[in-house]
Amino acid sequence: MTKENDEKPKDDLYSIPFFVRRSLEIVRGEGAIVYDREGTPYVDCVGGHGVAIVGHSHPKVVQAICNQTKRLIVCSNALHNDVRGELFELISRIVPHPLSLSFLSNSGTEAVECALKIARKATGRTQIIAAKKGFHGRTMGALTATWNPKYRKPFEPLIPDFHHIKFGSKEELENITEKTAAVILEPIQGESGVFVAPEGYLKKVKDRCFETGALLILDEVQTGMGRTGKMFAFQHWGVIPDILCLGKGIAGGFPMGATITSEEIASKMGKLEHGSTFGGNPLASAAAIAAINVITEEKLPQRAAELGSWFMENLKELRKKMVREIRGKGLMIGIDLRFKAEEYVIKALKKQVLLLTAGITTLRMLPPLIIQKEHLERVLEVLDQILET
Ligand SMILES: *Cc1c(COP(=O)(O)O)cnc(C)c1O
Repeated sequence: MTKENDEKPKDDLYSIPFFVRRSLEIVRGEGAIVYDREGTPYVDCVGGHGVAIVGHSHPKVVQAICNQTKRLIVCSNALHNDVRGELFELISRIVPHPLSLSFLSNSGTEAVECALKIARKATGRTQIIAAKKGFHGRTMGALTATWNPKYRKPFEPLIPDFHHIKFGSKEELENITEKTAAVILEPIQGESGVFVAPEGYLKKVKDRCFETGALLILDEVQTGMGRTGKMFAFQHWGVIPDILCLGKGIAGGFPMGATITSEEIASKMGKLEHGSTFGGNPLASAAAIAAINVITEEKLPQRAAELGSWFMENLKELRKKMVREIRGKGLMIGIDLRFKAEEYVIKALKKQVLLLTAGITTLRMLPPLIIQKEHLERVLEVLDQILET
């Protein structure tokens, strides 16, 4: 079951030690359940860090990948490809007007890099305003927009002209000016603790951007694709961004990032000013088409909304003296404890429930949206047990 007393696992022995790994090795997954080598099942509320929106190895995604593998895996972006074309069209159908044109990459951080480049080029300005406690990825541009000093400090100097304002503060929107190329925000901050944008905030940000000519980039890498109970979290507040970043679950577990904007903004970009070797390759595109179709056909956003409110309602009954606050939307849930959360992740793991932390004191859940109610009932049971002491 665990590797604790064994020799060091190979993915620790031969990798640059960036990751803090728990002593559990997962070898297989199906739906919302993952299994170790001995076949012990775990209810997966980690979901590959929010990637497994449609669950692990969804049959339609598996079939799409298998079929496409036999047909064509790679195709230069300098040539046309049927599957890639089909995906671009599908994306344009699920995003609201005027968003319609996408760039495909291989990760969330790349989706953000592309958005930052578009914002600077389209506005002819350099300043980027991000939020305190925001997370946007690990490559240099996205890292500069990320707030956590632990991630940033060792790598300074980063990209010039990035500033961080307090998330949710309407007063601090005064910092957005005619110098600002873009404001980049997560509608619900994930990594730092599941902080939902206060009512009316995104609208105020959008208005201020409009006044000053700055663009609004929404990073929905974690909140997008149905996670929060709508296809995109911005739909909760009716605020459409100028540029939208997607990633994580967009291709059913296959690596993909997408940056989506309007024709007007895209027209400011020149040929060869951005690119990607693997972005939008036929295999990833086939996986994404299958995943997006599952999300829409199985009405997963609605499912996330229903299961999420039911779960959060039940959470309220839990151990009030341990829990400071419950935050989130749909199946993006944060349980803010009065204690460090890490210890409780380990306790839950021992009871075969996988949880994430967010920030220091928050337990986070990003389960597949196809998760069964009985599995969530089990999670509630385990939370009730571990939060007892
Ligand atoms: C995970 C995440 C990213 C980075 O995605 P990667 O695929 O790890 O590069 C960026 N923004 C947000 C909001 C995320 O949750």
